[in-house]
Amino acid sequence: MRRDKVSFVPLVPGQIGMYVCGPTTYAPAHVGHAFSAISFDTVRRSLKFLGWDVKYVRNVTDIDDKIIKRAHETNQDPLAMSARFAAEYNRDMARFNVLPPTIEPKVTEHIAEIIQIVERLIANGKAYVVEGDVYYEVSTFPPYGRLSGKHLEDLRAGERIAIDERKRSPPDFALWKSAKPGEPSWDSPWGKGRPGWHIECSAMTVKHLGPTFDLHAGGQDLIFPHHENEIAQSQGADGEGTFARYWMHNGFLNFAGEKMSKSLGNVFNADQIADAVGGEALRFFCVQHRYSSPVEFDVETVEGGVRFRSLEEADRRLSKFYKTLQRIDLLVGQGGDAGEGAVVPGADTLIPRSREALADDFNSPVVIALLGETMKLANQLLDEGKGIDKQVRRRSLARIGRELRLVGEAVGILLAAPQTYLTERRERLVRTNKIEVAAVQGKLAERTAARAAKDFARADAIRVELTAMGVELLDTPAGTDWQVID
Ligand SMILES: [Zn+2]
Repeated sequence: MRRDKVSFVPLVPGQIGMYVCGPTTYAPAHVGHAFSAISFDTVRRSLKFLGWDVKYVRNVTDIDDKIIKRAHETNQDPLAMSARFAAEYNRDMARFNVLPPTIEPKVTEHIAEIIQIVERLIANGKAYVVEGDVYYEVSTFPPYGRLSGKHLEDLRAGERIAIDERKRSPPDFALWKSAKPGEPSWDSPWGKGRPGWHIECSAMTVKHLGPTFDLHAGGQDLIFPHHENEIAQSQGADGEGTFARYWMHNGFLNFAGEKMSKSLGNVFNADQIADAVGGEALRFFCVQHRYSSPVEFDVETVEGGVRFRSLEEADRRLSKFYKTLQRIDLLVGQGGDAGEGAVVPGADTLIPRSREALADDFNSPVVIALLGETMKLANQLLDEGKGIDKQVRRRSLARIGRELRLVGEAVGILLAAPQTYLTERRERLVRTNKIEVAAVQGKLAERTAARAAKDFARADAIRVELTAMGVELLDTPAGTDWQVID
């Protein structure tokens, strides 16, 4: 397997088949799930931006050991519980502007396909049956370990602890598990049971994308053994297909250098983050990093909870972007027609430069930098515009506004109406900074009255009082608005 950069040529011109290993739905989605979903949603959106049609398949593991364990511990029906978490997962991901997949296959809806592929593996001499369980015999697949760079000999020697006596060799893995009493189960040629974890992805990829498809993605932690096992299963069953032509793995999310883990207590739910800083801020923070890079995530414990400082900073930057868009919209109208004709230098270069960056292994951090540069140019035009022809200035801003939205969409940001985003952000900051809205509104009314009575000294004094309360006034053509100082 090559780990260097290669030029990408899809199997079918103009179309890309992409498979992403999705969640095992036994608990609410955490921030790591959100990062993975955002990373590959950015890849998908970028591919679309670059002119490709993407068939995006992301599975749901809705039955497995963890689901059964959690359901039993909490006295729930495993399948009802996993269906509920699967629906919650999609609701949560939508808060980060993650698009729904084209197809979202579930294990429980693919049992027949899974049984067929296990039967083919047995027929091909790649798998064996032991008392109702079926195992993949890894030694029958010589390329095993190529993706992860592991050697079969080391794997055989390494797993001395808790060896299942019924396996022929330690690296062999379960394709089918016989049912224990009280577990959900399906009929099979080997008795009642359920699929092992890895086999579902082999069954689902071939069904929805064919034996060979373009892109397979997932978290770095899935390279071994999950993706290694998928290759062994798919190639072992099919013999012909290459399976995935390109692999993509997203980087780990680290907390102060530590990997996120339940035992370290640094697992945060996705919806908790979206409530605290807004879903789009997490998205923004995520696309500031390339999908394959590790990401450092900081959390500060404060009285009564936690603060996500780097996400707050992302939210601050994003709010500046939205304010600029709002100013452009006020001048030229949302989606204002740029029309043909001259624009100022830099007003029509965001799209080609972003295309170049995204075509270079999805370099989204460069796109964020380009968005920042273009916002700066927009603000200069909005602030001054002196010496520039009125029509050229207007046309340039309309062009910039359109390009900002198109490029934003390519990385999944700037999709909201600026007013909606800014209002929601103010509500969040009001909560975080414990600002009393009624008191602010009282002061605003008092100031309006003072101004009407031409008592400007009092009006100015009220502005100072509001500043002390953490509130800044914005006098706009539409009247006086306010924002939280942050
Ligand atoms: Zn998978």
